[in-house]
Amino acid sequence: SGFSTQKQSSSTMQNFDFYNPTRILFGEGRISEIDDHVPPNANVMVLYGGESARRYGTLHEVVESLGNRRITEFGGIEANPRYETLIRAVEKANTAKVDFLMAVGGGSVIDGAKFVAAAMTFEGDPWSILTQHGANVQSAVPFGTVLTLPATGSEMNQGAVVTNEKRRSKLAFKSPHVFPQFSVLDPTKTYTLPQRQLSNGIADAFVHVIEQYLTYPTGAMIQDRFAEGLLKTLIELAPKLNENNHDYPTRASFMWATTWALNGMIGAGVPKDWASHMIGHELTALYDIDHARTLAIVLPSLLRERREAKREKLLQYAGRVWDIHEGDEESRIEEAIKRTRSFFEGIGIPTYLSDYDLDDAAIDAVVTNLRSHEMTELGEQKEITPEVSRKILQRSLCAEGSTQQ
Ligand code: NAP
Ligand code: FE
Repeated sequence: SGFSTQKQSSSTMQNFDFYNPTRILFGEGRISEIDDHVPPNANVMVLYGGESARRYGTLHEVVESLGNRRITEFGGIEANPRYETLIRAVEKANTAKVDFLMAVGGGSVIDGAKFVAAAMTFEGDPWSILTQHGANVQSAVPFGTVLTLPATGSEMNQGAVVTNEKRRSKLAFKSPHVFPQFSVLDPTKTYTLPQRQLSNGIADAFVHVIEQYLTYPTGAMIQDRFAEGLLKTLIELAPKLNENNHDYPTRASFMWATTWALNGMIGAGVPKDWASHMIGHELTALYDIDHARTLAIVLPSLLRERREAKREKLLQYAGRVWDIHEGDEESRIEEAIKRTRSFFEGIGIPTYLSDYDLDDAAIDAVVTNLRSHEMTELGEQKEITPEVSRKILQRSLCAEGSTQQ
């Protein structure tokens, strides 16, 4: 019969809660409606990054929409937001008795605002929010966001990542208290993005989907089909993003795809990997490589290293996402992994450590930090020990190394 016991035990959907309270205001011109979604007497802090929010007028539009409300501005939140900077924002916000936050920017500003929101009401050392990954967060100041860089999904999820420069630590936390109240997604805000950030956005979202899809055991049909739809959409959109900066339908689908890649829907009821993210965070903390680029270094090699554990899903991925139907199982898997790497390279993202002038010494440093951050049982099977992480990174050393099995 076609029902082997192995097949049955490998196919399941886990119990889950699905909760996502974030209102999305999607479309051109929606920033002017912020007024309707912030309490009329709110004392607001507007948080933003370096130059872009002011230069391209988004900051001005947000302030206009907030009307007569009291406003404190806090700019200068870096890419990979720094703990030290965010603590200054917390102090400034509490001194000004701020009771609502508005984040204007990409994942870094939104993640920064989430940390500020949680730290403002936190009793005790706020660093422990990160070392306990948010388990100790009891409340947060409410906030909204205006997304200017589609990539992270932070605009519609409960996670955030913060970097402590001194400790060379980049740690994530999550809490249901830091879902944004609302997020404005205006695709025209992406028109000013440089190619590097567009590519980063595609790659980050792509890996978000893969980390929740290319796992084992399998068996969640809806989540799989959504994930495959998102992956195929990202593959189809990627070359179009650089053709015309003002292609509204392309930018709209790009923006919505990146949000859905990490808003909880495709991750409900399925095992999740996240090892590429955890290893990638160490690379960013140590060598300041863009988040998405670290993922493009780790993921293809992780898929090779974990091909037996992920075999069933790799075959599904090869067929449904890349339309690979020819050849035996080994060659289909091999081809799917190759296409994944070529996809990143094709959007201008180098995938080897040597491309970033890193060598074995960097691998040692990453493995040491994974240990010190207790990242010792990564992946959906908890089998990615620091030694497996080392093997993954060794496969990413340089192009020649990767072909050795
Ligand atoms: P980002 O770090 O927020 O922004 C990157 C750069 O893009 C900044 O230099 C910014 O310039 C510029 N920029 C933003 N919007 C622009 C626009 N409309 N036009 C021109 N330039 C613009 O990038 P990100 O990829 O969105 O966020 C990365 C961070 O998110 C990482 O720390 C990563 O670990 C984290 N992350 C979070 C989650 C989550 O679920 N919360 C998931 C994945 C990753 P300015 O500084 O001048 O504004
Ligand atoms: Fe990410």
